[in-house]
Amino acid sequence: MTTTPEIDKLPLLLLGHEADPGSERGVSCPGDLPPASDPDLVERARAAKAALGDRLFVLGHHYQRDEVIQFADVTGDSFKLAREAAARPDAPFIVFCGVHFMAESADILTADHQQVVLPDLAAGCSMADMATYDQVEECWEVLEDAGVADDVVPVTYMNSSADIKAFVGRHGGTVCTSSNAKRALDWAFAKGKKVLFMPDEHLGRNTAVLEMGFALDDCVVYSPHRPEGGLSTARLRDAKMILWRGHCSVHGRFSKASVDDVRARVPGVNVLVHPECKHEVVLAADEIGSTEYIIKALDAAPAGSSWAVGTELNLVRRLSNAHPDKNVMFLDKTVCFCSTMNRIDLPHLVWSLESLAEGRVVNRIQVDDETAHYAKVALDQMLALP
Ligand code: SF4
Repeated sequence: MTTTPEIDKLPLLLLGHEADPGSERGVSCPGDLPPASDPDLVERARAAKAALGDRLFVLGHHYQRDEVIQFADVTGDSFKLAREAAARPDAPFIVFCGVHFMAESADILTADHQQVVLPDLAAGCSMADMATYDQVEECWEVLEDAGVADDVVPVTYMNSSADIKAFVGRHGGTVCTSSNAKRALDWAFAKGKKVLFMPDEHLGRNTAVLEMGFALDDCVVYSPHRPEGGLSTARLRDAKMILWRGHCSVHGRFSKASVDDVRARVPGVNVLVHPECKHEVVLAADEIGSTEYIIKALDAAPAGSSWAVGTELNLVRRLSNAHPDKNVMFLDKTVCFCSTMNRIDLPHLVWSLESLAEGRVVNRIQVDDETAHYAKVALDQMLALP
């Protein structure tokens, strides 16, 4: 459990129309958040960054806004960024432009004297919120009652809270990313007969069926909101992959119809999607890969080729701008940013940087020692995957 109590059990927080002020408790910014209309925000961020010098390291996830990513010292996916932070022990302040679970992982992997700051505490992740510690404990009891827990190796996606990573560490499992999910599952199936895969059912199913040759029937979905997960003991005993009912609210939006539509509109288009997309979308696509894979695929694509990309819109737009000689477009017709990634904007970045420059550490994300220890066991197991 983190020692950032205000954010701990908060669900995805969306501001704007019909926002619930009660659910926003604990996410206000003490001090003066500059107005978004301030024309000097860029200059203020630059000045604060310069004042902090080498004491500051700014991490920017690929899904961040352009206005924020311009101040990142390094960009990447969540795991790359956490490792980059750990490789910079000389920087006492790590400002993580990403979401909560990423800042937790950075805190776990960095040294004790390094403090990790998340510019807006409301930058959570709807997928990570779909698996809470209590729900996972309850699931494990269901597996024990069904007499299968001893056969199960838990695997959690990087996009999960530190609590869930620690649970997995305590139960002999591993963390995985979208790049190494197959290697993690190969390892887990060499160790046990079944895998409990959390919290993204799509990544688990896509990897098991498309990369490992399992049948769809080998996979069952455990729903934390139904008694016994909505599964009979017989189904649990027969299943090889027990998938947690969870998904990414961004990648889950793409549909087979989006793929059909873009193929009809753009002759010769290559459809490239992230494995967090639904199985039917991945089946209809030409290529599937992690964020880093998508970036490399477009770097290597020939001039004049057309690409419909099924991932977060900030990244797709940046890739489109970076490749003016290629026709890079968003897979869906509807605009789809990650709303929580977008919580980190220039005013919050300026506020956090100026606070640090004035000697105040704000919005620190700190994982307690025991949780950090077991979460690191699971993360280290991932690093040791064959
Ligand atoms: S893109 Fe999806 S998985 Fe990534 S932070 Fe947003 S909701 Fe979570």
